[in-house]
Amino acid sequence: MNTRIAKHQSRFLRYPVTFGLCLLLLIMGGCSSEPKDGAVALEPLPYAEDALEPHISEKTMKLHYHNHYAGYIARTNALLKSCRIKDHDLAEVVKAAASSLKNQDLFTNAAQAWNHAFFWKCLTPKDSKPPQGRLKQMIDDSFGGLDPMKQMIAEAAKTIVGSGWVWIVQDGEKLVILPTANADTPIAYGRNPIFTIDVWEHAYYLDYQNKRAGYVSALLDNIVNWTYVGSQLE
Ligand code: MN
Repeated sequence: MNTRIAKHQSRFLRYPVTFGLCLLLLIMGGCSSEPKDGAVALEPLPYAEDALEPHISEKTMKLHYHNHYAGYIARTNALLKSCRIKDHDLAEVVKAAASSLKNQDLFTNAAQAWNHAFFWKCLTPKDSKPPQGRLKQMIDDSFGGLDPMKQMIAEAAKTIVGSGWVWIVQDGEKLVILPTANADTPIAYGRNPIFTIDVWEHAYYLDYQNKRAGYVSALLDNIVNWTYVGSQLE
């Protein structure tokens, strides 16, 4: 009888202690110790590492994917363990981190992780078909055709001093070309990117050295997945 009472008492005591600890964790701003779904996931490359040759070499792709991209994912997950942001959907993490100055490191790494996963999907090794349907119409309406748009992307790439990305962003029934610096990304501002090109030096230096323009035009002329780009229109 006495042991049963003791058991009840200890159980009764255990719950407030657990509750108190949880509350303390919440107050301290810690992420839950067991993040749902584990962590932000490394997305597989949608093609083989040598599939974009000769425009992107296997050596560049291996370094870019396994060192840079995987590094951003690992750092994002490490930072998520000790922060207030509890969402494990990468785009939501980017948006939440963007709105807080305290989360600059998380923003940089999560945005870079998102940007890279998106960039992989914007490319294809299979003969890149020209834009079709609504995408083609919007390119014609916004830029006067595919070639003028490519030229604007190339110009935008030149304006980025140091690292960054060039985007095609949807603005209603129009498209705009947007260069961003470092890790910055249109999704942080609720905009809808449909295409991006990575112009950080690590994306092209081994293959093109300092010739960023050569890298940009090689990609635009040969390996853009316009079908995927069109599928990103809202
Ligand atoms: Mn990169």
